[in-house]
Amino acid sequence: MFSSESGSNICSLCSNALECGEKRYRCSECSDIKFCEECYHSPKSIEFHTDKAILPHHCTIETKTDSEYLQSNESDRFYQCFENAFNSFSHRNCIGVRPVANEPTVNWLTFKDVYQNSEMFGSALKLNVKYESRVGIMLNNVPEWYFVEFGCLFYGYTLIPINHYINNDQLLNILKIGEPTILVVSKITFPKLLNVINNYSNLTLIIHVGDDYDQNLKNQLPQQIKFKLYSEFLSTVSEIAPHSPLINGILSVVFSTGSTGIPKGEICKDRDTTNWLKTYASYKKCPISISYLSLSHTQRLMDLTSIFLGGRFLIYSLGTEIEPFIKECSMVRPTYFWNFPTFYNQIYSMYQRRLEILKKEQPNLSNDEVDSKAIRETTNVFGDRIQHISTRGAKTAPHIEIFLKKCWGNRFYNNYGCTESYAIASNGRIRSDVEYKINAIPGFRDDSLYPVGELIVKSPRTIEGYINKDGSNEKNFRNGWYVTGDIVEEYEPGVIRILERVSYSFKSSFGRFISPEIIESNFYSSSLIRNIFIYGTSLHPFLVGIVVPSQLALERFNLTYDQSNIDQHQDLKESIINEINIISKQKNIIFWEIPKAIKLDNTIWTVYNHLLNGSFKFDRKEITKYYQKSLDQLLSGINENVMLQFECLFYTLLFLSNETVTFYNLSPVIDSP
Ligand SMILES: [Zn+2]
Ligand SMILES: [Zn+2]
Repeated sequence: MFSSESGSNICSLCSNALECGEKRYRCSECSDIKFCEECYHSPKSIEFHTDKAILPHHCTIETKTDSEYLQSNESDRFYQCFENAFNSFSHRNCIGVRPVANEPTVNWLTFKDVYQNSEMFGSALKLNVKYESRVGIMLNNVPEWYFVEFGCLFYGYTLIPINHYINNDQLLNILKIGEPTILVVSKITFPKLLNVINNYSNLTLIIHVGDDYDQNLKNQLPQQIKFKLYSEFLSTVSEIAPHSPLINGILSVVFSTGSTGIPKGEICKDRDTTNWLKTYASYKKCPISISYLSLSHTQRLMDLTSIFLGGRFLIYSLGTEIEPFIKECSMVRPTYFWNFPTFYNQIYSMYQRRLEILKKEQPNLSNDEVDSKAIRETTNVFGDRIQHISTRGAKTAPHIEIFLKKCWGNRFYNNYGCTESYAIASNGRIRSDVEYKINAIPGFRDDSLYPVGELIVKSPRTIEGYINKDGSNEKNFRNGWYVTGDIVEEYEPGVIRILERVSYSFKSSFGRFISPEIIESNFYSSSLIRNIFIYGTSLHPFLVGIVVPSQLALERFNLTYDQSNIDQHQDLKESIINEINIISKQKNIIFWEIPKAIKLDNTIWTVYNHLLNGSFKFDRKEITKYYQKSLDQLLSGINENVMLQFECLFYTLLFLSNETVTFYNLSPVIDSP
């Protein structure tokens, strides 16, 4: 059952009861304002619009309260949930695009517009593509994404959402594992596909959103692949075909990068998919929000939930900096907002800078007064309508959580979940519909007072498994239980704290999964590097490294392995940093995977000093222990400015979607000593 708190059934002016099914006018700006037919036309109704959005407010004719819609739109089939939602909310605004950043104009697509566009795309699929085919979608955040999404849902195709920021290897792996035969791309993502196209042979059709494609790239396509413009593809449709949704089929294959670095394709079917939809729908009333990240995962879920609830969101993709985005927030005045911890780190920095300024400007104010003023200004950035603001996707630092609670009180949620089982805990408390076990890990905090270990969960949202045929199902799924790979501490019954990943791979504070061994492997092509060890933690956005130079490198500078303090040798260090930067560019390494600071060391790693294990592999645990002091110094030695610059850059990249930008030409490289 959905929560039924939202929406009363009383006319806001005359207080007469509105029966379910009875016509009423619902305001899209004010919270829970609706009028009976008579009152809507009364001039007095104007006074009841309390929201500060410019009058007149957009009102739609409806027949139920939001909670009544929620209950009647619910279905065990994902298709039916959306069929119902589109029917219920056809006149509401659904997806907005601001043609000019930070200008007030918004071009809105109504639910009906989105529905009809989706039917067009789906009908074209039905005409041209075999039923149940897999359709890959690699687009930046544009309305066409949703048309493809619902086109597939309505007409029986499996959707494979692909993050347009991934590197060539990941893309190739996703294609090979997901096996799409059709791929929808744009000017931004088409070049990326060309990098790997010759190594993947199942593709038969490429659909290009936008008419401004690169003719040279098109000419490079293998002969068996048809290339069609999106508009051209739609022009094959003479009439809308009847819907033919999948029955018990795979609705989507969603990829996440697992700890081994090989992307895992999650099989999403009606049961798990409708259950996460119900869970997320219960979090919030009909939301007003901003959509701006890649639609390959969390943002997609949030946007789909918004559509199911009859909410509206604005696609933000024009700006390149954090400031215009903040400005956008204050213009949209969202009711619902989520982001990665690293975003809130920046908000926290803004708040701290503001504190300093206020103290100087108004020395007569007490610390408490200055603080509450700065907090108020921070919350105002997001407008006056926030009902639910959350962080998810990575661990949030405790001081940031305290700050966010100060800003939004109990409207702030620290959500924890995983892509295989979706929502697991909120503010540390495990959801009531999640069964869980904590399996102790020998050697990890054996002395803890609380249960500590790897979290294993089972919920109505847990997926069946991966599409991969590489043994990852056996490892991660056991009789309906999912092994999260997260080490948690249950410090109160049913309340957990996330401590660490089980493997040495980890999520950076960007929410990005970092697999150090894979990153390291890139640098072994260098003749100057004997060993490299990449290190980071989930509280830091950047990585650092220990490098043991090769003999060749040492000889160039008349050094030997017996030398002490080779880290002090500036010329050697510079040449190695230079080498790392060159390789990073050559291999198109994503900037957050490039070490931000390194230390040189001349210890030879052997089985004797235990830095190599019995099978002559790096013993990461031992290496970490051996270099712990240096690693901590490297991590803490990077000053605030560099960090801020690094975080801004990350967001810049997320925002860029109208220009073709490759990662390497924006990658911050290691600072020269
Ligand atoms: Zn009335
Ligand atoms: Zn209103």
